[in-house]
Amino acid sequence: MSVGSSANVICQCDLKAIANRAICCAATLGGMGDVPQTVIEGLKRGLARRCPACGRAPLFAGYLKIWPVCAVCGEENGRHRVDDAASYFTVLLAGHVVVAPALAIETFWTMPLWLATFLLLAMVVAATLLALPFVKGGVLGVLSALSARRGEKEDGGGTP
Ligand SMILES: [Zn+2]
Repeated sequence: MSVGSSANVICQCDLKAIANRAICCAATLGGMGDVPQTVIEGLKRGLARRCPACGRAPLFAGYLKIWPVCAVCGEENGRHRVDDAASYFTVLLAGHVVVAPALAIETFWTMPLWLATFLLLAMVVAATLLALPFVKGGVLGVLSALSARRGEKEDGGGTP
């Protein structure tokens, strides 16, 4: 959606809503609704914790809280229901990260059981907390790309 010509850009964004983020409107940065073209692109943008539609604005307002609306492109990222998918993939990832060290500890080192348990639990907690925002962003990016593709099909295949 074009807001204005490049020579005469008209700002239509709510400056009060984005004043704290120091980001100008979508007209200045090149358009609104720049949805990811492919699932891979959406996944990359989400894993980078950027808006999956434009890739310019941060996706998260906090550790796991998503900005409901992107301040740059206006995409409603809050409408995508990530639910338990991010948790599921994070546990799957963290489990695989911990299994190899657990086997190595069992094979190569002799240490008390309480110490091995403490180390493995610490690794599970750290891996989970580190990975969860990235995985949640990735899941949201894929959902955004799939939603955009479904929208194109419903609109008639993206006719010009
Ligand atoms: Zn955006």
